[in-house]
Amino acid sequence: MATKPGLAMYWAASCGGCEIALVNLHEKILEVMEFFDFVFCPCLLDVKYQEVEAMADGAIAITLFNGAIRTTENIHMARLLRRKSRLLIAFGSCASEGCIPGLGNLASRQNLMDHIYRDSPTLETGNGPLPATVVDVAEGRLTLPEFLPEVSTLEQVVAVDYFIPGCPPESHQLWNVINSIIQGTPLPDRGAVLGGGRSTVCEECVRKRTEKKIHRLFRTYELIADPETCLLEQGLLCMGIATRDGCGGLCPKVNMPCTGCYGPPEGVLDQGAKMIAALGSMIDIEACREGNLEDWHRQVDAVLAAIPDLAGSLYTYSLAGSILGGKRTQ
Ligand code: SF4
Repeated sequence: MATKPGLAMYWAASCGGCEIALVNLHEKILEVMEFFDFVFCPCLLDVKYQEVEAMADGAIAITLFNGAIRTTENIHMARLLRRKSRLLIAFGSCASEGCIPGLGNLASRQNLMDHIYRDSPTLETGNGPLPATVVDVAEGRLTLPEFLPEVSTLEQVVAVDYFIPGCPPESHQLWNVINSIIQGTPLPDRGAVLGGGRSTVCEECVRKRTEKKIHRLFRTYELIADPETCLLEQGLLCMGIATRDGCGGLCPKVNMPCTGCYGPPEGVLDQGAKMIAALGSMIDIEACREGNLEDWHRQVDAVLAAIPDLAGSLYTYSLAGSILGGKRTQ
């Protein structure tokens, strides 16, 4: 029987990186264990779903729910953990915004199944069976959860108390949140983002910025970036301008453009649209004939053409939770 407040951590459609963020607390995890009892965490404990179902409603103090909602099993667990938890936290980019699994919303369920199980260049035959929810074999009946037509964020399925951004969340930010709960510091109003800033990655980036004028965009392998100048000014698609701060600007610090994993900054609803708007004001159209819209379009198209998967690049982490949501083809 748990005598301390119960802590749960669950993974839906995710990669496991959020669990690593927890492990990266290092020795601080002992302080977490002193204050909480882990009551459910498939990565660490063999606690069955039925045992969670048997708990009283509200029995779990906090659930860190990572992963997007991709299957009927994910929905079941989201609803179950919502009922059992006093605080349900969307932990990491997948639960908060859909993240990489959310990019599946650019294709239909059939497209995805065909690509994974039939058309992938790594497959020998193109007509293998597709996964089914029920299969009868000699040993009995096998069942799988249903693969849903599109990916949702946790908030699109159940009410969420707080969000912790990042892919994965930075461990020091996770510690700040857990420690304030341990210390009894009052939390902000429900619905707030915890463990992140309220501005953009550019604000915590130490690179020099002058005037942003982009003549062309480059992919990272095409350019050895100057280590001190803003990467976007050098033509690398750095999402810092459209991304919430809180990570410490880690990627630009090591010459890699920010890919946007902390999601849109405070007050911005759609990260990709914010980035497109920023690019729109930076693409150099000076060489175009004044007032000639065709020239402008050609120049903008030519600059953007350097990025082969523009939707995937601008919405890498935020598609499912964005206004755009994805291309619903089924
Ligand atoms: Fe730094 Fe990128 Fe912002 Fe430039 S765009 S200031 S490199 S975070």
